[in-house]
Amino acid sequence: MSGWTLAIHGGAGTPPAAELTPAREAAYREGLLAALAAGRAVLEGGGTALDAVAEAVRSLEDCPLFNAGRGSALTAAGRVEMDAAVMDGAAGRAGAVAAVTRIRNPVAAARRVMERTPHVLLVGPAADAFAAAEGLATEEPAWFVTAHRRAQLAAAAGRVALDHDLPGSMGTVGAVARDAAGRLAAATSTGGMTGKRDGRVGDSPLIGAGTWADGTVAVSCTGTGEAFIRCAAAHEVSALMRLGGLGLRAAAERVVLGRVPESGGQGGLVAVDAAGAAALVFGTAGMHRGLLRAGGAPEVAILRGPGEP
Ligand code: ASP
Repeated sequence: MSGWTLAIHGGAGTPPAAELTPAREAAYREGLLAALAAGRAVLEGGGTALDAVAEAVRSLEDCPLFNAGRGSALTAAGRVEMDAAVMDGAAGRAGAVAAVTRIRNPVAAARRVMERTPHVLLVGPAADAFAAAEGLATEEPAWFVTAHRRAQLAAAAGRVALDHDLPGSMGTVGAVARDAAGRLAAATSTGGMTGKRDGRVGDSPLIGAGTWADGTVAVSCTGTGEAFIRCAAAHEVSALMRLGGLGLRAAAERVVLGRVPESGGQGGLVAVDAAGAAALVFGTAGMHRGLLRAGGAPEVAILRGPGEP
């Protein structure tokens, strides 16, 4: 398959039925379409998979509907602590930030870590300071906290909850792409789980857990982060394909419907392989998701569609 492929997610979960009003659904769809358009602009212009996933995720971070950037889920203490990662499968390079509180677009900081340091992961105040020194936009921590998220934290009533399982849910965001030259890349960004402890880091910024790209497949995950970490979910998709001989869809389903629940959680992932095939797989009632191929029309969905496994 030639041409390019872009798949995105805006988080997996089981939104309470009353939550997904037509107006809300329309707003989510708009956010997902905007992210696909951002990625399309890069890929149509002959840009790289890495640029495309970075732009798609930036667009989702900028949309307060999703659990990334401003509007992120709150920790038990009512703070925003964000995690993000990028991986360039063609070059075998990766960068990430975790528990950052001031970076407007954490995915941009993750990319700077990859490109401008010898490291893979920077965390906490030092990562915030690195981003500022790099000239990236920063804000006061209170800027990221929305009234909506305060209400959601109150509704969690002491539980640690997956975003889309709560009233007023939104979601972690991610993107995977294969560009016209066959390069693969993945990016993921999140505020993590509502009611998490300060200092808790989920799967999203951990290379191999929530984010992975190599020459075989690019993967971005969403769900109960601890379970994805325990089974190295994103890398497991690649291992099942490279070493286990599974096809993309079978590998993604083995991880999402097998390894993740066995590891004590639930969620979904989006993945694109070297041939440009895509899999958008989830074990929850829904996953905000979108798919676009060269020359095609954008497809976005939230709940499980008829005929979807
Ligand atoms: N995986 C994210 C985390 O555990 C949460 C999510 O996907 O909504 O931090």
